[in-house]
Order: sequence, then C-alpha cells, then structure tokens
Amino acid sequence: MDVQRIVIKVGSHVLTEKGNIAKQRMLALVEFIVQLKEKKYEVILVSSGAVAAGYTCLVLDRSVVANKQALAAIGQPLLLKMYQEKFAIFDILCSQVLLYAEVFDSKEHIKHAKVAIDTLLSNDVVPIINENDTVSVQELVFGDNDRLSAHVAHHFDANLLVILSDIDAFYDKDPNKYEDAKRRAIVSQITQDELEAEHSPHNEFATGGIVTKLQSADFLMQQGRKMFLASGFDLSDVKSLLLDGEHMGGTLFKMQENNEEIK
Ligand code: ADP
Repeated sequence: MDVQRIVIKVGSHVLTEKGNIAKQRMLALVEFIVQLKEKKYEVILVSSGAVAAGYTCLVLDRSVVANKQALAAIGQPLLLKMYQEKFAIFDILCSQVLLYAEVFDSKEHIKHAKVAIDTLLSNDVVPIINENDTVSVQELVFGDNDRLSAHVAHHFDANLLVILSDIDAFYDKDPNKYEDAKRRAIVSQITQDELEAEHSPHNEFATGGIVTKLQSADFLMQQGRKMFLASGFDLSDVKSLLLDGEHMGGTLFKMQENNEEIK
C-alpha cells in the first residue's frame, strides 16, 4: 500500500479491562506501532482511555459530564505515563497533544498544530492525541474520539485512519444482535440511513457506537482518504494489512477509483 503517514485511533473499550487500563493490550499496541515505524510509516496515535484511567483513582458517577471531565483531567497524565513507559522499552519517545474540534475550524490553529506534529514525527517521536476535555466535551459525550481522529487524519495529511475497536469490522447489521450478520470487507459508499442510525456503543466507557465511525469514514472518503476498521483486541487483521499488505479481516473504507472494480 502507498501509505506513509497513518493515524491509529484506539477506543476506550480496547484500552480498559474490568475498570483498569488493559496494560497488555496497550503494550501490544505500542509494539505494533514500533513495527510500523520500522516499516517507515509515520504514526500518530489518537488514544481514548483518560476517563477510565482517572476512574481507577477516584470513583465518580460517570453519567455526569462534569465528573467525566474531572476524571479525564486526572487520568490523562496517568495514561501518558503508561504510554511513556511502554514506548521507553523500545527506546522511543512519545508526546501529548490535546486538541478539540474547534481547532479544525481555524486555519491558524491547524497550521500551528501541524507544524508541531510534523516536527515531532520528523524527530521520530510518536504524537499521542486526545481531546482536551476541560475546554471541550464533544467527544467525551458522544464519539469517543472517532470524529476527532478523522479530522486529525485529514488535516495532518494522513492517507489512512485505522480505528481499532471492540468490533472487528463493519457488518451489514449489528453482529452483537444478529448471528447472521455478514462482514463488509470493502465499503465505497455509506448511505444516509447508515449515517443517521441510532448510536449503539457496546461498553460503558464507549460513547459512539458504529455511527460515529461511519461518519468518520464518510468524511475521509470525501477527502480522498481511507479508513480501516479492525479489532483492537486482536491486532492480526491490521498487521496483515499494514505489515504484509494483505487484507484478511476488517473493513476498508475507500472511494471507488475510476476503472477500479470493487472486489
Ligand atoms: P469502540 O470499541 O471503538 O469504542 P463502540 O462500542 O463505540 O466501539 O462501537 C462498536 C459497536 O457498534 C459494536 O460492538 C457493535 O455492537 C455496534 N454496531 C452496531 N451496528 C454495527 C454494524 N453494522 N457493524 C459493526 N458494529 C455495529
């Protein structure tokens, strides 16, 4: 594949296990990013999990948005510390970049943020992006960084956004409800109904469900970019695609190019 710069977004459900940060899964993700860097990819990570990390220190009612903000403020440095420790095993530096949707409404802000991201990447540092939940609660309430990561991919010029989720692909119907749901391997168009469907997150920490992922895919396809939805619990499908160039599982969202047949 002709991808150079990629954004990987990991959801809350993948990063938590029984109320704690799932350290083994975090390590597997970090190892994967290291493998990608060895393959000369530039990787930007968008990571949820701050609220969950905060909740391990202070039990507050997470149905109250103010409490979620407080938990994110407590958990964000803890989350970053864990990432720093894991990346340090491989002698790699990581960094924290906090953004929010309105940044992408301002050319000035985008320009500043892109300079910082480009400089981090050119110095071999992995940017770890999250929403700045003290000034914006958009993704905290709905989306779990799905839409933020699409803006990151577009404005920081990544060809591909990889969403690592609790679900291993996009299906023709919710696979947690219907046994006969079939995986869609490649999607080149998303219908209005699909974009407006009721959101259906699968976990108490997750907030978006499939709809915010489809909105992100639709936005990126319109910009001529791609999105890949795959499991964050088992990284074999995303590894096949990015390390071996083989599309085994997961869903690749990409616009149909002229003269190209969708397989
Ligand atoms: P994340 O782990 O990224 O936070 P969410 O739990 O927010 O993910 O969203 C994924 C969930 O969306 C799946 O577990 C599934 O129950 C639900 N879902 C609804 N419709 C579909 C569909 N057509 N294909 C895949 N998942 C679907």
